[in-house]
Amino acid sequence: MTTITLETLSKEFDDVVAVNGIDLTVRDGEFLVVVGPSGCGKSTTLRLLAGLETPTDGEIRMDSRDVTGAEPKDRNVAMVFQNYALYPHMTGRRNITFGMNAAGSFTDEEIDRRVAKAAETLDIADLLDRKPQAMSGGERQRVALGRAIVRDPDAFLMDEPLSNLDAKLRIQMRAELTRLHAELGTTTVYVTHDQTEAMTLGERVVVMDDGRIQQVDPPQALYDFPTNRFVAEFIGDPAMNMIDVELEGGAAVHDAFRIPLPAGSAEGETGAGTEPLADPDAGGRRHAVLGIRPEDLHLARERPDLGETTFDATVEVTEPLGDSLLVHCSIGNETVKMGAEPRSSLEPGGAVSVGYDPERLHLFDPETG
Ligand code: ADP
Repeated sequence: MTTITLETLSKEFDDVVAVNGIDLTVRDGEFLVVVGPSGCGKSTTLRLLAGLETPTDGEIRMDSRDVTGAEPKDRNVAMVFQNYALYPHMTGRRNITFGMNAAGSFTDEEIDRRVAKAAETLDIADLLDRKPQAMSGGERQRVALGRAIVRDPDAFLMDEPLSNLDAKLRIQMRAELTRLHAELGTTTVYVTHDQTEAMTLGERVVVMDDGRIQQVDPPQALYDFPTNRFVAEFIGDPAMNMIDVELEGGAAVHDAFRIPLPAGSAEGETGAGTEPLADPDAGGRRHAVLGIRPEDLHLARERPDLGETTFDATVEVTEPLGDSLLVHCSIGNETVKMGAEPRSSLEPGGAVSVGYDPERLHLFDPETG
């Protein structure tokens, strides 16, 4: 069991700062997901953990052991890659055991015992004598996982391991990884660009942008309380609506509406970090960005419980999603997305009244996000 600590960890490649002074503790036995857009520094962070890159600055510890300069083989971590990294000319069994007896660290009996156990855990007994070209993508990834677990490492480091699988298999493998983690309890750092994967797999999720950590929290807390605009827009699908407003007299004011803000109801969400939602300076005005998730906007006629404040909106386009209807509508000069009941009859150009959940408004600072 292993705790991994990163302290002011940085990696620069010539003039690119890939990882910019991150502090992070991966708890013992935790499944931690690192998510962010392409190029934000996720893979570099994982490669620093694995010892495949050397940091420009900072420190990495596994428990109390400083491994900052240690060779990959001396870290006792196992990597799982997007492209499986299997040897094409070797059987599943050889791929799993390759290198294990190189240093004489395992006896043949011990290797056989471990392979049998991994084969049972991953249900891959019938793949052991096949070569990769005779396996599907999902089967190859199981064998790659087998190779990781037979080593009984202190940590698993997984870099987009499901990205090459089709959508259905990805969902199945997600559940398998969660089951595997529950069974093995090994500290795991999992990198993905896919926020759905991050939300479903992570006990905690690290959101990165531009080489820096933006927020670390359990998935629901990320969704409910994003600390800044980047996290708010990155987590959630479809993305949160962002509307420029003025804060004035305890309300968010826009040409097309005035929303009273429940005083102090969402402290800490203004990007500045400490200001309450309501305008602190009565009579003064200041710019803000009001964030409302599409699923927190509703046709007023479908949710009369939400209160009396509504917007007048014009329907632009509707997209049936099966379990709901996504409605693009204009409110003044803004286009926003809103969720509606799946069989709501709405015509483009039609006027509707839109209500919102007052508990679920977010405010961000337009300058700092
Ligand atoms: P992510 O995994 O989030 O897509 P990466 O960690 O791969 O991001 O890359 C972060 C930044 O570092 C990018 O700008 C990328 O181009 C750069 N980078 C990564 N590896 C190298 C390298 N070996 N040489 C130069 N630049 C690199």
